[in-house]
Amino acid sequence: MNVLETAGLRNVAARKVSGGCRANYIQVISVEAPLGEAKCVARIEMRAIMKILIVEDEPKTGDYLQQGLAEAGFVVDLARDGLDGLHLALNGDYDLIVLDVMLPSLDGWGVLRTVRRSGREMPVLFLTARDQVEDRVRGLELGADDYLVKPFAFSELLARVRTLLRRGKSKEPEVLSAGDLELDLLRRRVTRAGVKIDLTAKEFSLLELLLRRQGEVLPRSLIASQVWDMNFDSDTNVIEVAVRRLRAKVDEPFEPKLIRTVRGMGYVLEAPVAQ
Ligand code: CA
Repeated sequence: MNVLETAGLRNVAARKVSGGCRANYIQVISVEAPLGEAKCVARIEMRAIMKILIVEDEPKTGDYLQQGLAEAGFVVDLARDGLDGLHLALNGDYDLIVLDVMLPSLDGWGVLRTVRRSGREMPVLFLTARDQVEDRVRGLELGADDYLVKPFAFSELLARVRTLLRRGKSKEPEVLSAGDLELDLLRRRVTRAGVKIDLTAKEFSLLELLLRRQGEVLPRSLIASQVWDMNFDSDTNVIEVAVRRLRAKVDEPFEPKLIRTVRGMGYVLEAPVAQ
């Protein structure tokens, strides 16, 4: 995608001028009045603006999602039925689609199938009220990247959206692992030594973060912002409690222990080299 369009700067020509702007800024030249005016725009900020399409026929849910994602800093379009959604998906150059399954005129399956056949590979997050295994499998087979069952907390949706956007268009491994611990991102399933482990949504997100950055000591503040979408409050022990619960499930019944507390620093997950 054109970074300028992503930033909502449609009527500018961009060029890199060495010395013209500080590092990580690029110069943009206005083609509107005042013609030729140049200014420096932060490259990083522009990259950070992502465009999301929501296809959702329930008015309240659609408005709520649009507002929430816009407040989270995304550029958001909302389609209220399947055909409109498909039209936008094929023409709008989105970084991600949040797609309801039950829609008027064309259901979510139909939208997804056509989007994938057109060769577009942006991540698609399915929303549905039906928590049926067949739906989940069907969505994943058609090329959905993740799946959220209604009703859901907005913070949970936002966490999934951010994870999908970080993964981007490159195909990342679908399974994260350390030793005999495996986390399947698509099926949202965790096993250790082949034994299935049930985790809450937060525990899953926490484990995902620890696995993605294994070997790195993660401060509580970083975990708070990535998993809870909140700023760290030193009075809360929510992270300690969640880590303890996670350990009780993935570490206590097994050897070797993978999650360690680094006093005064945070937490680290790593598999010992010799097992
Ligand atoms: Ca619906």
